[in-house]
Amino acid sequence: MSLLQSIKNYVRSRSIHVSYVDVGSCNGCDIEVLACLSPRYDIEQYGIYVHNNPREADILLVIGAYTPGWEEKLATLWEKIPEPKAAIAIGNCPISGCLFNRPHTYIDPPVAKHIPIAAEVPGCPPRPTEILAAVLAVAPIVFRDFEVKR
Ligand code: SF4
Repeated sequence: MSLLQSIKNYVRSRSIHVSYVDVGSCNGCDIEVLACLSPRYDIEQYGIYVHNNPREADILLVIGAYTPGWEEKLATLWEKIPEPKAAIAIGNCPISGCLFNRPHTYIDPPVAKHIPIAAEVPGCPPRPTEILAAVLAVAPIVFRDFEVKR
């Protein structure tokens, strides 16, 4: 492995930048993601930082049952995130539609049909510790030796 790749691996393991998008939720999962920022969970102690700008993100957290109105917007958002990147589905909504998945509702789950999903965190809502664990588990798999694996 080259010295440059070693440096990239080192930096990426300690600086994971996360952005999140809500494609139609009850806000329960948003609250759990925001709880990760609170002093109790203190996401930054793990080297995870939250951004509004997808161009600065490595990982996209997707919350909510996918509604067709998001088709272009989610694809555009995903395109804006530079490689290497990964998306994680947070909660039951992006996995199955959860309680919104009923006859005659206007949703189209799972989100994995629309952008590649690297991991799913089930729950209604999942705990902040489970969200943190998913980010920390996915990051090394996606980012370590990225240039070598390409
Ligand atoms: S998984 Fe549950 S808590 Fe999360 S957005 Fe869906 S309905 Fe709300």
